[in-house]
Amino acid sequence: MEESVKELNKYKKVIDLFNKEQILDQNIEDLQQKLWYNLIEVRKEYIPGIQKAIRINLYLCQMLDEKKQIKRLLSPLFRLNHLFDQRFYKSPDNVESGLKIFYKILYSTYGNLDNFLKEIKIAQNMIQFSHKRCDKALIKQYNYLKNITLPVRGYENMRLDLFTILKKFNDLLPIVSNPEYLVEVLEETTEFKKIYILEYQKNHLYYQNRFNNFQRKIYTLPEYRALERLSSINGLQLKPVKEYINSFFSHKCEVENLEQILQKQTRCKCGFNLGEKINLPSLIKIIPVVKKGIMSYIRILQTNEEVNRRLKEYLRYHPNTDIKKILSINSIEDINGPEISSLISEDLIRDINKALNQRRVKISLQKLAPDLTGIYSRSELKILTNKIVKLINEKVGPETTLIEITF
Ligand SMILES: [Zn+2]
Repeated sequence: MEESVKELNKYKKVIDLFNKEQILDQNIEDLQQKLWYNLIEVRKEYIPGIQKAIRINLYLCQMLDEKKQIKRLLSPLFRLNHLFDQRFYKSPDNVESGLKIFYKILYSTYGNLDNFLKEIKIAQNMIQFSHKRCDKALIKQYNYLKNITLPVRGYENMRLDLFTILKKFNDLLPIVSNPEYLVEVLEETTEFKKIYILEYQKNHLYYQNRFNNFQRKIYTLPEYRALERLSSINGLQLKPVKEYINSFFSHKCEVENLEQILQKQTRCKCGFNLGEKINLPSLIKIIPVVKKGIMSYIRILQTNEEVNRRLKEYLRYHPNTDIKKILSINSIEDINGPEISSLISEDLIRDINKALNQRRVKISLQKLAPDLTGIYSRSELKILTNKIVKLINEKVGPETTLIEITF
């Protein structure tokens, strides 16, 4: 009698597992029929799910670089697959011997019925996990957290929190087989990400503000403005000093949608790292460098043969420009910023540009002569003049500023 109750329970427990309705049958043959029918149906349903779960969990391990967890993670799925992947289910009529083989494999695989019941819950949850593709969110969050670098100092608590969360990924089985725990882990990662983004934004703003203030200070220095004007002399770009100064601002960040960017990646596009310190040189050190840059331009204007010749030529026709002053400067070390800036004015640069861009064209009188020979009355002198002007204009282009008449 006791044996048959045991037998009955053995069937009931497995039927309960797959069947939601209450089992009222007490007849052992009916129970066997019901169980067998359930098994045939259930395995049809389970096999594709198990196979998908195996694939997804393999992928998960790969993506999280946790290949060492594969064996532990996949064993519940492999065991269930082994139980269902047998030929005897194919002969649906032989209920009694079918069930006998089923229980035999079940015991040899799981040891006892309770182990089976426990583990099938795990496998069911894993199938659900892969069916819902929860791996995607998990991989995304993990990769995000993995890319976060926190400074050693001042972020001790955050570092500990990050470490604690990441450590949970070292044991994936509870995450993939327990939906509540999965939600908990995902919530923790989301919360951490939120805190990180806020902290990063705060730091980024502080860094950029210091940066911008410094840049504003430099750009409004009269010495810097003078250097900038000089660098706009056509064909005379001596960039090193200006480039050197601008190199401080190569990290200047123009990004406006930082929060959106940080949802996808752990750093701003400018590459700023959380906790990064800014080392800005003092203005007192910058000014002599800028003056040196200015002086190197002045030296070129004074010593480059071609440049100097053009400037002097220009001076002959425009004696009042400041070009004269520039050409006589020996040193600007003792000249203060505002003076430098007013000397190297927009007007001066315009004059220099004009001087350097003068186009000189030689015209030989001999070549003009054939078109001019003839007899003119005094009243026709104006006609002669116009003729000469017309002829010269035909020979020179509109950009020509100097016309050299030769024999
Ligand atoms: Zn940035």
